[in-house]
Amino acid sequence: MTIHESCFDRLAAAYPNQQEHRTAWLQSWADLENGVVSRTVDWFLKNWARCPTLAEFKAETSKERDRMKIASRREQTDACSYCVSGWVVTDWEKWFAHPCEACRPEQHDRWLTGKYLPT
Ligand SMILES: [Zn+2]
Repeated sequence: MTIHESCFDRLAAAYPNQQEHRTAWLQSWADLENGVVSRTVDWFLKNWARCPTLAEFKAETSKERDRMKIASRREQTDACSYCVSGWVVTDWEKWFAHPCEACRPEQHDRWLTGKYLPT
């Protein structure tokens, strides 16, 4: 059994009516990473009371991919020795700081070009 198939079985265990759409679901997942499919299934099982449509599922996979990206960046920042939570402090008294070049390169680039907006 592939990872996709076992992910589908987890979904179908909660929503048995989906079993007849197995082939369509598995085909539509063909281009998706195992981790994204698996986490998205978990997300729906935890957060939704009904089975998502295929379109809803696909839409959520791209959000899941973003959540995974943010989580892995957070891990990088936690492990980074150049900064404090993603910030390089240049003046502790006045609390001047800028985004860390090592672990938050995108924010650092935006800061360099004056486009950084704290979120
Ligand atoms: Zn850093």
